[in-house]
Amino acid sequence: MAKQTGHPNGTHPCDIPSCGETLPLNMTWCERHYAMMPDHVQGELWAAARGGIGTSHRYNRNLQACRTALDWFEDNLDANGNRKEST
Ligand SMILES: [Zn+2]
Repeated sequence: MAKQTGHPNGTHPCDIPSCGETLPLNMTWCERHYAMMPDHVQGELWAAARGGIGTSHRYNRNLQACRTALDWFEDNLDANGNRKEST
């Protein structure tokens, strides 16, 4: 099935392509993938979420935090969206 981007009923898939979990629009990753993130990555996302609402500063900080999370996923998830064993 083709990957869906956006959904008429206000949901979207988890940002990890192999995951397929359906999420509300205000969540980027499913609980399973949030739980995999190390504290410093989660901390950055929370810090960005707590910033001033609707400001470009917050937007930029959010982008930065998402990029940090995506980089971490890229380095630490295997092709099936599972956490790689640390070596
Ligand atoms: Zn997921």
